[in-house]
Amino acid sequence: MGAGSRFHTVGGLRVMIPSPYRAKSYRGHGPTRGPVGAPVRVIAMQGLGDTVFQRACLRDFPRLAYVETSWPQLLDDLPNVRCCPPTRDLHLRTQSLNAAREYAWHTPPLGIETLSPMHHSHHPPGVTHLSDVEHSFGLPSGKRVTYDLPDFGMSPLAHERVAVVYLSVVAAAWKLTARAPSPEHISRAAEALIDRGYHVVTVAHLQDQREWSLHRSPVPAHRRFEHGELPIEKLCALIASARVLVCGVGGVLQIGLAYRTPTVVIAGGNGKCDHGSVTVDPRIESDSTSWLYPDEYCFCASWQHDCPKYISDFDAKLGAVLDGFDL
Ligand SMILES: [Zn+2]
Repeated sequence: MGAGSRFHTVGGLRVMIPSPYRAKSYRGHGPTRGPVGAPVRVIAMQGLGDTVFQRACLRDFPRLAYVETSWPQLLDDLPNVRCCPPTRDLHLRTQSLNAAREYAWHTPPLGIETLSPMHHSHHPPGVTHLSDVEHSFGLPSGKRVTYDLPDFGMSPLAHERVAVVYLSVVAAAWKLTARAPSPEHISRAAEALIDRGYHVVTVAHLQDQREWSLHRSPVPAHRRFEHGELPIEKLCALIASARVLVCGVGGVLQIGLAYRTPTVVIAGGNGKCDHGSVTVDPRIESDSTSWLYPDEYCFCASWQHDCPKYISDFDAKLGAVLDGFDL
């Protein structure tokens, strides 16, 4: 191990974290050295998970930020943030639907600097999506991170032992089939949770031709919110109060991390972008998050690669994780 480097273990893999990261070809994407408090227009990434990353950065950003976002509800409690309607095309239906809800939008002053935070789809070893976004905000690497979301109050369900299961889905506008977890494993997890006495709630945002489930038959559940019935605040409140969350990689995982909800991540593929060492920054408290990886986990960077997703002894591995959560 070289000076200034350290290792950590994610998903059973030892990963080296160079510190600080100094690749010359790897730069930020906007002006970040303006005067403290001077307003800046932030053209935010519109993904749900990306919004959680950006929230963690905006919290520490020393300037008044007029943020163009589809998810103002997840940002507007931050004192230096003013949410503005997105001006770029929105790729996803879920983003457009939320941005179209009634909201007291702000308007950025004319002529102020513009910042376009982003992260690359895959990184050099040791760089996470979050640290990449931090870099694009011009924030120092390796600083302490507060990773959270607002408190949206009571869960929409009064049941005490709720387990949230996010379906394996693919959206037409974001056809990342390689990342989606095995639908068979998601269904087995739902069955196991029912057997353990949980009130299983399935969640998705399905719509004909635009976002579809990969499950051949309905996932066992007591309650279904599979067609976007829950607005983002209710979805957050549901996950925040759940005893356990089962999901693949995506925005819902970041919500679970933000609320420290015990989470089982059933990994699919596309590992160069979606492995735990990339999607969960080591500074995020993730003791209650466990990953189940396919036996032949694929580190490709292809959205539609047929990554092998089979996890042997799935029931036993899942059972061990759930036992470990001390639920
Ligand atoms: Zn693959």
